[in-house]
Amino acid sequence: MPGSATPDVVVVGAGMVGAACAEALSGAGVRVLVIDRDGPAGRTTASGEGNVLVSDKKPGPELELALASRSEWDAVLSRLPERVADVEWEDKGGVVVATTDPGPLKEFAAKQQAAGVDARVISPAEVFELEPLLTPRVTIGVHYPDDAQVQPVLAATALLAAVRDRGGEVRSGVQVFGVRQSRGRVVGVETSVGDVACGAVLNACGPWAGEFGAAAGAPIQVLPRRGMILVTAPLPECVRHKVYDADYVGAVGSGDADLQTSTVIESTRAGTVLIGSSRERIGFDDSVRVRVLRELARKAVGLFPFLGDVPVMRAYGGFRPYAPDHLPVIGPDPRLLGLWHATGHEGAGIGLAPSTGRLITELFLGLTPHLDPTPFRVDRPAVTAA
Ligand SMILES: Cc1cc2nc3c(=O)[nH]c(=O)nc-3n(C[C@H](O)[C@H](O)[C@H](O)COP(=O)(O)OP(=O)(O)OC[C@H]3O[C@@H](n4cnc5c(N)ncnc54)[C@H](O)[C@@H]3O)c2cc1C
Repeated sequence: MPGSATPDVVVVGAGMVGAACAEALSGAGVRVLVIDRDGPAGRTTASGEGNVLVSDKKPGPELELALASRSEWDAVLSRLPERVADVEWEDKGGVVVATTDPGPLKEFAAKQQAAGVDARVISPAEVFELEPLLTPRVTIGVHYPDDAQVQPVLAATALLAAVRDRGGEVRSGVQVFGVRQSRGRVVGVETSVGDVACGAVLNACGPWAGEFGAAAGAPIQVLPRRGMILVTAPLPECVRHKVYDADYVGAVGSGDADLQTSTVIESTRAGTVLIGSSRERIGFDDSVRVRVLRELARKAVGLFPFLGDVPVMRAYGGFRPYAPDHLPVIGPDPRLLGLWHATGHEGAGIGLAPSTGRLITELFLGLTPHLDPTPFRVDRPAVTAA
C-alpha cells in the first residue's frame, strides 16, 4: 500500500473510538495510519444517538471514565480544526423521570452524588418546567446538567480531519485481515491492498473487535448487542433535554440476551426526535423488526403523549460492541507485544471516546494515566477467557 513514513500505530477502525484514539495519539506526536474497510464513521458510530452521559452510569469504573471523558470532551472540541469544529455539540443536560415509585431513582441519584455527579432531584412541577410536554404521571425527576449531546458522525470525521492536518493518514475501503509478527511482536498488518509495516496495531473495530482479535491471534470477548431507533419527521421545539425513563439504567446494565426496551428521547438540531432504544443479543442480524419498533413507540408515547400524533420518518439499527462485564477494553494485549485494543464501549462509545483516546495515548507513551486503567485491562477473565 503506498504511503509515506512507516506509521508508529495502525488504528484499525475509523469509528468514533478509533478516531478519538488516532486524534489523541497524533496530538502527542505519534505517527498514525487509520484504516477502515468501509468509510469513516459508517458503522456503529453512525447509529449512535450522540448522548454524552454521566446520568446512566452507576458508581464504579465506567462512571469514572464517563466523568473524565465529559471533561475531556471540552479539550477535544477546543482542538478541532476550525473548518470542522461545529459537531452539533449541545450542553443540553439530561432529565430522568420515574412514573411509578420514586424511591429507586432517588436512591440511584444519591449514590451518584456521592460519586461526584451533579444529580439534582426535582419535583414533578420542576420537571414540567424543564419538559412541559411530559406525561402528568411523572412522580419524580433528576436533572443532570452535565449530560450533553453531539452528532457522532460529524465528531468522528472532525477528529480524523485533525489527524490528517497533523500528517496522519486515513484510508477507507481497506480491510485489515490480521497482523504480521516477528519475534513475538507486531511488525505490520496484512490488508486487502498489501502489507503495511508499523510499530503497533490498535484494534478499534467496534462490534467486530472480537473477530479482529481472533484474526490477530489474540481473541477477546466483544459481541454485538443490537439496538434500534425510531426517528420522527422534523418538529418544532418539543423535547429540550435528553429525557429518559428511570428503567433505562436497568436495561443498560443488564446482560440479558432477550429484547429489552426502555424509553430514551432527544431532539436533534435538525428538529427530528430520536426515540430509543432497544437492546437485544441476536448476533449480526440487522433486520429492523416491527415488534421492537412497536414497543419503542408505545413506551415513548407513555412518556411524551404528543408523540402519538407525529409522523415517523424512518427507523434504523446498529450493533453496540459489548463485553460480558459491560466495561470497555482499553490497553495493550499482554499476549502479543504491539497489539492494543480500544473497544467494548457498548452503548456509550460516543461519550467515552475522548478519555479512551487519552488513556491509550498515555499508556502507549508510558505517561501517568489520568485515571486507573486496571478495570479496563485486556487480560481480565471476562474478556480473554475462552
Ligand atoms: C442504536 C444505538 C444507539 C447508541 N446511542 C449512543 C449514544 O447515545 N451515546 C453513546 O455514547 N453511544 C451510543 N451508542 C454506542 C456507540 O454508537 C458505540 O459505542 C460506538 O459507536 C462504538 O464506536 P467504535 O468506533 O468502537 O465502533 P464502530 O463505529 O463500529 O467502528 C468500528 C469500525 O471498524 C471497522 N472495521 C471492523 N473490522 C475491520 C477490519 N477487519 N478492517 C478494517 N476495518 C474494520 C468498521 O468498518 C467500523 O467502521 C449507540 C449504539 C447504538 C447501536
